[in-house]
Amino acid sequence: MLDKVLIANRGEVALRIQRACRELGIKTVAVHSTADTSLKHVLLADETVCIGPPPSTGSYLNMPAIISAAEVTDAQAIHPGFGFLSENADFAERVENSGFVFIGPPPEVIRLMGDKISAKDAMRKAGVPTVPGSDGPLGDELEENQRLAKDIGYPVIIKAAAGGGGRGMRVVYTEASLANAISVTKVEARAAFGSDVVYMEKFLARPRHIEFQLLADGHGNCVYLFERDCSMQRRHQKVLEEAPAPGISEELRRSMGERCVRACLEVGYRSAGTFEFLFQDGQFYFIEMNTRLQVEHPVTEMITGVDIVREQLRIAAGEKLSFRQEDLQINGHAVECRINAEDPKTFMPSPGRVDLWHPPGGPGIRVDSHLYSGYTVPPYYDSMVAKIIAHGDTRASAIARMHVALTEMVVDGIKTNIPLHLEIVQHSAFKNGGTDIHYLEKRLGL
Ligand code: ADP
Repeated sequence: MLDKVLIANRGEVALRIQRACRELGIKTVAVHSTADTSLKHVLLADETVCIGPPPSTGSYLNMPAIISAAEVTDAQAIHPGFGFLSENADFAERVENSGFVFIGPPPEVIRLMGDKISAKDAMRKAGVPTVPGSDGPLGDELEENQRLAKDIGYPVIIKAAAGGGGRGMRVVYTEASLANAISVTKVEARAAFGSDVVYMEKFLARPRHIEFQLLADGHGNCVYLFERDCSMQRRHQKVLEEAPAPGISEELRRSMGERCVRACLEVGYRSAGTFEFLFQDGQFYFIEMNTRLQVEHPVTEMITGVDIVREQLRIAAGEKLSFRQEDLQINGHAVECRINAEDPKTFMPSPGRVDLWHPPGGPGIRVDSHLYSGYTVPPYYDSMVAKIIAHGDTRASAIARMHVALTEMVVDGIKTNIPLHLEIVQHSAFKNGGTDIHYLEKRLGL
């Protein structure tokens, strides 16, 4: 096993990783910005290193500072969490070249999957269904692009090959707006991701977002931990997730899971990873792979009993998966609400001091959060401050438990989106299950 891990992240996920390390007897190094000295995992860490100023470019994205911190503390491995450097192939490479273990897949696989065009290509070759589209970067020939869009059929979506976080996408409904949409997306993509490579795919009108969780050990063993439904989104950002996805048959689940496993083995995947699909009219269409731990991993943990972060640590230490596909089964249903420090109506961030924190509890409730009474949420980072996960024998009981938990939770001093979640869990369309990715925005009148 590893004996010391550096956690290159902050907030809730840093604490989550620290908990898994401590359970395995692994010491932790917390790196943090000057704004984060009072983060919960920093206070609990065996060692801490301040790596820079509040803006993440100087701290959580500062590769030399993070690698130096690993050197001075003699850590063996670096866990990148999610966001920040977690899907940065150059970082993974620098970590490995400096003699540390990167807790994630090999750098070349991150690179392959980080480019959405090469990822789609690899998936097609592995027999995973993809969204019909340009099968490659768009050129500068307007007529060629118009022909392509016509063949695919409007509406189409122009997407940045290097895009992420729901940015770098534009829907085009008519030929008249195609040229402008392509050039605007290119400019945005260059500014945001450093590459103006864009591609085109069919815009699916009312899909659901369903994703498969995979774990591979790098010794040729790979399993799927079933699927999650993350259709409840606002501005392409997930708000509430659940597992399993309502209405997916055993047979479809197995066939998709097995295809994902084959694709993982084919690209030489290792660690935890997620295949994201749009699902419409009974068909799955691959959109991208996330080569890291995901925010919503707890719903999968609740229905399978597998600790995904612990498995990532074991795999990084060179161990084999301790279970096979046949050992896994779905137990009940789980729902997760992402609690953000934001105004529930305007969605404006609401940083500040948490005067009183009272997390919910009871059967089936799990709270992953770094909050405590007296903690001040800094204004510099992502607004997610907690995740509530509710598990039950049935979907209805998981939702009922979530409802109770939301009414019980107290976060005084800052605004949160708890009122929005309360509204969602009580709405009949959500209770029925299977709402599409536009449901929430329509309901909010956006
Ligand atoms: P990102 O890497 O930014 O998360 P994705 O490719 O995963 O980008 O897409 C994010 C979201 O954008 C999807 O969950 C879906 O809501 C929407 N989207 C992406 N591609 C399509 C498409 N072809 N048709 C309809 N919606 C899409």
